[in-house]
This record gives sequence, structure tokens and C-alpha cells, in this order.
Amino acid sequence: MNCIFCKIVAGEIPSTKVYEDDTVLAFRDIQPMAPTHILVIPKAHIPSVDGVNGENSAVVAHIFEVIPGIAAKEKLVNGYRVVSNCGSDAGQTVPHLHFHILGGREMTLEMA
Ligand code: 5GP
Ligand code: ZN
Repeated sequence: MNCIFCKIVAGEIPSTKVYEDDTVLAFRDIQPMAPTHILVIPKAHIPSVDGVNGENSAVVAHIFEVIPGIAAKEKLVNGYRVVSNCGSDAGQTVPHLHFHILGGREMTLEMA
């Protein structure tokens, strides 16, 4: 599949991994918008939040189970933001479901 994040999962594009298990991968964003900027993705291709359904939602729950551990390892003790952009109005640029973890600075009401 011609999907950047599927290629990262397959190891065809290098990434700086911060967490990995059977169904989930987390790696550093190539263009960080905060001192800590990590992307957490399901290894299986889901295009966006719009593609989440009863068949695949367990991996989304699992992503949210692993996020606190990633944040703790990154020492985001003052908090962090989790964002998923869905579709063009939201500015989604990679059509593979991903959750941004942003931390290490105070957030404004806007994402970045
Ligand atoms: P979106 O705009 O879809 O919410 O977020 C996509 C994110 O993926 C962007 O923050 C962008 O910097 C990041 N990104 C795009 N291509 C790559 C890549 O090849 N490697 C990494 N690590 N991040 C990427
Ligand atoms: Zn994909």
C-alpha cells in the first residue's frame, strides 16, 4: 500500500520509535510542533477517525492504554495533548489514523 505510515510500520521508511507492540507503533514526528511530539498509530491501516468501527476499535482503545506510559517515559509530568486530525478541514495530511502526543510546553487553544 502506498501509505507513508504503513511503510514506517514495515520498516521501509526509517523512524525514531518510542514504543512498539503487536498492534501499535509510536514514533517521533519528523516536524515536531512541541518539545515532545510523538505519533501513535495502529499497525493496521485505518484511514482516519472516520474509519473506526466495531471491527477495529479495540486498537484505538489499546492506543489510549499505551499513551499514559509513553507520556510518563517522556516525563510529561505537567500534562500533554492528544490530537487526531480527521479530514481536510482538520488538516489531516497522512491518511493513516494517528494520534499526536504533544507536550513539553504549555498548549494554546489551537493545536499548535
Ligand atoms: P496530520 O497532519 O495528518 O495530522 O499529521 C501527520 C504528521 O505526520 C505531521 O505532523 C508530519 O510532520 C508527520 N509526518 C509526515 N511524514 C512523516 C514521516 O515520514 N516520518 C515521521 N516521523 N513523521 C512524518
Ligand atoms: Zn497506512
